[in-house]
Amino acid sequence: MPTETTVKTSAHNQKSVVMVVDDDFSARMQLRFTLENAGHEVVEAASGGEALDLFNKFLPDLILLDVIMPEMDGFDTCRMLRGLPGGAHTPVVMVTSMEETETITQAFEAGATDFISKPINMLILGYRVLYWLRSGLILSELKINQNRLHKAQDLARLAHWERDLETGEFLITCHKPEMFGLTHLSHYDDLFANIAAKDKMPARKLIDNACKAGQTFSVHYQVALPDGSERIILNQGEIVTEDTHQHRLAVGIIQDITELKQAEDKIRYLAFYDNLTGLANRALFREHWSKILPHAQRYQRKVAVLFIDLDDFKRINDTLGHPSGDKVLISISERLKNMLRHSDVLSRSGAEQPASLLSRVGGDEFTLLAADITTSDQIAGLADRIIEVLGRAVEVENQLITLTASIGISVYPEDGSDIDLLLKNADTAMYAAKERGRNNYQFFQSAMNDAAKVRFHMSNRLRHALDNNEFILYYQPQFANKTGALRGVEALIRWIDPEKGLIPPNDFLPFAEENGFIHSINEWVIQEACVQAQKWVASGLFDNCRMGINISGNNVNFKQLVANIIAVLAKTGLDPHYLEVELTERVLMEDTDEARRMLLQLKDMGVSIAIDDFGTGYSALSHLQLFPLTTLKIDRSFVMNMDKTDNGLSLLHSIIGIAKSFDLKVVAEGVETEDQLSALSRMDCDELQGYLLSRPITGEKLEQRLVQSRASAISKL
Ligand code: C2E
Ligand code: CA
Ligand code: CA
Repeated sequence: MPTETTVKTSAHNQKSVVMVVDDDFSARMQLRFTLENAGHEVVEAASGGEALDLFNKFLPDLILLDVIMPEMDGFDTCRMLRGLPGGAHTPVVMVTSMEETETITQAFEAGATDFISKPINMLILGYRVLYWLRSGLILSELKINQNRLHKAQDLARLAHWERDLETGEFLITCHKPEMFGLTHLSHYDDLFANIAAKDKMPARKLIDNACKAGQTFSVHYQVALPDGSERIILNQGEIVTEDTHQHRLAVGIIQDITELKQAEDKIRYLAFYDNLTGLANRALFREHWSKILPHAQRYQRKVAVLFIDLDDFKRINDTLGHPSGDKVLISISERLKNMLRHSDVLSRSGAEQPASLLSRVGGDEFTLLAADITTSDQIAGLADRIIEVLGRAVEVENQLITLTASIGISVYPEDGSDIDLLLKNADTAMYAAKERGRNNYQFFQSAMNDAAKVRFHMSNRLRHALDNNEFILYYQPQFANKTGALRGVEALIRWIDPEKGLIPPNDFLPFAEENGFIHSINEWVIQEACVQAQKWVASGLFDNCRMGINISGNNVNFKQLVANIIAVLAKTGLDPHYLEVELTERVLMEDTDEARRMLLQLKDMGVSIAIDDFGTGYSALSHLQLFPLTTLKIDRSFVMNMDKTDNGLSLLHSIIGIAKSFDLKVVAEGVETEDQLSALSRMDCDELQGYLLSRPITGEKLEQRLVQSRASAISKL
């Protein structure tokens, strides 16, 4: 007996199981003896029925099946075995007593693997069993591999095809060719049958050419499957020469890469588009620039970079909340997109010419790359239209909101030949547009860079100034109109620069307001003015007087401001009645609700609230009602114009009348001449302030005057 008996055991370390099916007991015994000697395990079945039962239990590796048995013969048993789970590929050897053609044919028809004739030569049987077992194992491994391949093909959504380039013979191997809209009988032409019209010719041409040239190919296309679904198919392969006939074969793999492609698109989208608005993002903007630059260079075209910044957008976020702010951004983006689509400047760029691109690069910042431009007029026209389109009201949560934008423009090649510089210059120009009152556009000019440098330099110097105590407060007295008695002072900031000397507030506050540094300045002023006022109060110099302070800046946080004022009052011990806070309408309007609530708190404590520069800017009467005010300061311009223009005087009269109707104390600013003074003295104006009466002076000077006036008051007693 050969020692190499255990084919299956090599893998499973088990004996092979051979089932012997025979109604003849002695025949079974004889086979059992031989097989067990050869190292196999034997299961006996005395009938076809028993064989079927035992098959499930033992899952034999080989079946020796007698043909002639009562009840169910070997043929039927074999047929039934084949139908059992796992029975399809188990080797079944028919044991026949007659070696007639008919029996053999019948045996194979019933699904037998082989046959052996009685009487059995036991030595030969030993070898043949080994052979049957081995081929059974190979077959089942093949089957497993085939299943794996099918699974893999299914998973990878893959099929393999071959085309004999000499004979035209075509073969497709795939578990489910339907998933490509094909069948096992498909021809080469069918490969292209379902391809979308736009992809069909190019794909076919590409593969045909590769076949001719003997090259590799790789192409993907869209197909519409009979079930209506649309898939993206990758078809790649090569030309090989086959061994047997030396025929050239095109062999290819087709793969459904729809999901892959979708994932890729999604990734691309995330990387290059703004999630909120669907506009391009900064990365795509740059990529686009590198695409259109060669064209512009070659044809000497201009490219404009427009930097679009919405004015005061923060106000919308703060007052309506971020979700509404997002809605506004979305609808604005839509508008811009639509406008650009219909713009003649941009639509002139045909399909071959690089188009222009709008992108969102920050919260409320957009950039437009306008390619293929010839004149500045075109750009100006475009900017005009953007401003006009953005200026139309947007409806959000049943509110109509009007926005404006400031646009800075730089132009290739004049203002730079790389995108970073162009963006920077457009940004600088945008700043210039903001400075010119917003809602306008500005072309970049090199002088703007100097302004930008000054701005940058200035913010550093301001920080330094605060750290080094270079700020100082001057105080300008305010007098009662009727009696001339001192009623208070307005604290006015000055910057004593070690090099430049005294710098007036109008020369540095606008920068501080723009970069937000003003909030630190406001805090400093509150602290400094309250400390000073408390000193004068404590010395008995400030009876019936108020200390006025100015609060300004964009986005004043009223909650924080009021908390700060309250803290400083507590710390310095200053009675709130000595303090007056001056605010312009512009500052108030940024956050009407919060401002109203917080100021009411201050007013309730006894702090006076003055509306400053009244008559300039918004000047809405409703504001007088909306905010908890105590005082109205008439802007200097009305005092100045009172004797210059015809209706100057009547304007002044009516402002005072209005203020009085709201029960406000009225202070006239900028009294410079005796004429103004005497005119005002006849009016119902409570207090006066101006160079004629006193310029703003230092704290020491003011203190001297306070001391003097107290002395003269005492001497008059
Ligand atoms: P404002 O609040 O309207 O202050 C009055 C300005 O008018 C002061 O200018 C004052 O010197 C000036 N003035 C007073 N009387 C006359 C006059 O008879 N004729 C003329 N032509 N001008 C007169 P100043 O001190 O240069 O301040 C300018 C602006 O800077 C202020 O206008 C205020 O808006 C702002 N400011 C001043 N100090 C501060 C401060 O401490 N904090 C804040 N946030 N802003 C301040
Ligand atoms: Ca003021
Ligand atoms: Ca003022």
